[in-house]
Amino acid sequence: MGRATLTIDLGAIAANWRALDAATAGAVETGAVIKAGAYGLGMGRVARTLAHAGARKFFLAIAEEAAAVRAALGPGPEIYVFSGHMPGDAELIRDLDLIPMLNSLDQATEHFERIAGHPFAVQLDSGMNRLGMEPAEWAALRDVLAGEGPRLVASHLACADEPDHEMNQIQLDLFRAMTADLDAPLSLSATGGILLGTAYHFDLTRPGIGLYGGAPYADAAPVVRLSLPVIQTRIAEPGETVGYGNTWRAEVPSRIATVNAGYADGLMRALTGTAQLYDGDVPCPAVGRVSMDMIGVDITHLEHAPAALDILCPAQGVDALAEAAGTIGYEVLTSLGSRYDRHYEGAET
Ligand SMILES: *Cc1c(COP(=O)(O)O)cnc(C)c1O
Repeated sequence: MGRATLTIDLGAIAANWRALDAATAGAVETGAVIKAGAYGLGMGRVARTLAHAGARKFFLAIAEEAAAVRAALGPGPEIYVFSGHMPGDAELIRDLDLIPMLNSLDQATEHFERIAGHPFAVQLDSGMNRLGMEPAEWAALRDVLAGEGPRLVASHLACADEPDHEMNQIQLDLFRAMTADLDAPLSLSATGGILLGTAYHFDLTRPGIGLYGGAPYADAAPVVRLSLPVIQTRIAEPGETVGYGNTWRAEVPSRIATVNAGYADGLMRALTGTAQLYDGDVPCPAVGRVSMDMIGVDITHLEHAPAALDILCPAQGVDALAEAAGTIGYEVLTSLGSRYDRHYEGAET
C-alpha cells in the first residue's frame, strides 16, 4: 500500500488527560479542548475516549464543530464554544445544547434576544486582546450576567508556555480582580497554566495540546506515529543531485530512499534540509526539497532496505519535528493531512 500510516494512540490521550487531571488537586475539574478535529487527530473518537476517561466538559472553537461531538457523545456532556454566540448560531446552539462563551455585549444581546434562558458562559479578556469582554465592558455587564447564572467565567493566558514570563502574574491578578466575589465557576488555564501551579487552577482547567502529547507538557505520553512507505531506492553517485532545484548533491555514493508523503500531507516544505526520518531509533536525514507528495532520505548508513521510515515516533515527537520546521507542535498536528491511513489503538470504548 502506498499510503502513509498515521497511528493515533487513544490510550495515551486518555492517560495524558488523567495525568493532567491528577496535576490539579481536590475539587478542580478537568475539561478537554477538542477544537479543530481534536487537534487534527479525530473529533469523534477522541471525544468518546476522553468522555470514557472522565471528561464532562468539552471545548470547541466554533458551533459548527459541535455536531460531530454531540453525535459522538450524546446528551449530557457540556460542549462550550470559544467563539461564542455568532449571528445565525442560535438554532445550532439550542438544538445541540451548546454553551456559547459570550465574548461581548453584542454576543450577550444576541443570546438573550434569541434564546433567553439557554445556558451560556462568559469569556473575559485579561490581556491577550484576542477574545472576551474587556474590563470596562465586563464591569458594566457583570451584575446582569452574573444574575443569569453563567455556567463558567473564563479567560486565557497568552504566555503560559513561558513559566517565568511576567504576563502570567499580570493576567492572574486581572482575572482575580475581574471575578472577585463572583458566584460562578472560574477557569483560566489551558495546558501551560496547569503547569504554572495551583494559583492558576481555579474551578476548571481546559487542556488541549497536552492531551495530544505536545509541549509545554513535557511528561506527556506520545500519541502519534507517522510511518511513510519507501516507494523506491537508488544510488546517487558523487556529484548527482536529489529533488527540485538540485539543492542537495551527493559527495559519496549515497543510497537515497523516496518516501510517500510531502507538504500536501502536512509535512511542511520548511522541513527541507532540516528533517530527520527514523528507522527505529536510527536517524536518516531528509535530502533535497520536500515535494508535494514525496521526500528523499539518505539511508546510506543503514544495513538493510527499510520498507518504511517514521517521521513522527518516540525518537522524534511533534515538538522535535515542529522545531525542524520552525513552527510549534500545534501546527504539526493540525496540519496532518487527509491522505493518511489512520489507525486508532488503545480505544477504551
Ligand atoms: C486552544 C485553547 C485552549 C487549549 O490550549 P492548549 O494550549 O492546547 O492546552 C484553552 N482555552 C482556549 C481559550 C483556547 O483557545
